[in-house]
Amino acid sequence: MLFKDIPGLEDTKNRLINAVNNDHIAHAQLLVGPEGSGNLSLALAYATFLNCEDRQEFDACGECPSCTKNAKFVHPDLHFVFPTAATQKIKREDATSDKFLVEWRDFLSKSPYGNVTDWSFHFGWENKQVIIPRTESRSIIQKLSLKAFESTYKIMLIWQPELMNSSAANGILKILEEPPENTVFLMVSSDPNKLLTTILSRTQMVKIPTFEDQDIQGYLAVNSDAQETSIQQSAYLAEGNLRLALKLVEGNTDEVQSIFKDWMRVCYNWDFQSMTKLAEGFQKGGKEYQKNFLSAGTKVMRDTLVNQFEPEMVRVAEDEMEFIQKFGSVFSPAKVDALIPKLEETHYHIERNGNPKILFLDLSLAIAKIARSKQ
Ligand SMILES: [Zn+2]
Repeated sequence: MLFKDIPGLEDTKNRLINAVNNDHIAHAQLLVGPEGSGNLSLALAYATFLNCEDRQEFDACGECPSCTKNAKFVHPDLHFVFPTAATQKIKREDATSDKFLVEWRDFLSKSPYGNVTDWSFHFGWENKQVIIPRTESRSIIQKLSLKAFESTYKIMLIWQPELMNSSAANGILKILEEPPENTVFLMVSSDPNKLLTTILSRTQMVKIPTFEDQDIQGYLAVNSDAQETSIQQSAYLAEGNLRLALKLVEGNTDEVQSIFKDWMRVCYNWDFQSMTKLAEGFQKGGKEYQKNFLSAGTKVMRDTLVNQFEPEMVRVAEDEMEFIQKFGSVFSPAKVDALIPKLEETHYHIERNGNPKILFLDLSLAIAKIARSKQ
């Protein structure tokens, strides 16, 4: 990944590039950006720039042996740590990032703007909670105790440090504060509020803004076969989230929407048999699907609320707007207000390994009750 492969974000790129050119490289940096932002891709481009053997003024050369290895994510001085789960052959505690590098490289090359759900699905962990296990801290310390193999800098890229087990996080505090010479930590986070304050205080934060609509349009024009109008619409609806824009332009978001509509209809009609059937489907979808689905549902409800008070603020596709209007005519603002915490509560329990079928059925009944109440 080179800086030029990432659309827009000129100010952030310049800040990173200037720090290197002026020899002010912070040894522990926290790149923070929302889902679908350039946080991971910028970290990859920055790592490539740092170790390029023929560094240009504003980007890596892209051709030297170091750049060639970085392009394939196989540079021996760029170490990756990312959330994992157990497999049939690997126990939870043994599931350190090293064991999954082949799949990880494939994921990086296909989905550099993906989120944890995408990574879980990529590997086939959709039914499992992924985390960075305790044992990973030992592995980080061990790798950084060695000299750089080929390049000047040893880089430790930690993706989603907020998913670190707390003893793993505590285990790296010392090395984070006093790393060996020429070591650079790049932590790539989407939710820094979940990070330990001891980690936050030891890192320099780089805030990455969302993409501009025009930058997303430019990216989609090169990276998809979609028509101009579809590109424009996807960029507009994605609100700066490149991951979402890519899904929209590929037409991948319809399924969740249609199931959601179906579900609301079933709840409203108090169709218990269909509720049970949907709950079974929900269970089969796996944990990440369940969380995604509930987040998408919460978004529809929030859009419905906003649409009643400030319709010009709502960014949704035409058919979705139709649904939101219909939904708003059945569910008063007071009802929607009562529904949102129910969805969030279910999301909370799913995350903590509650039984999805029971949770989903309970939620359906709660929705049905609210739908029919006199609010
Ligand atoms: Zn190079």
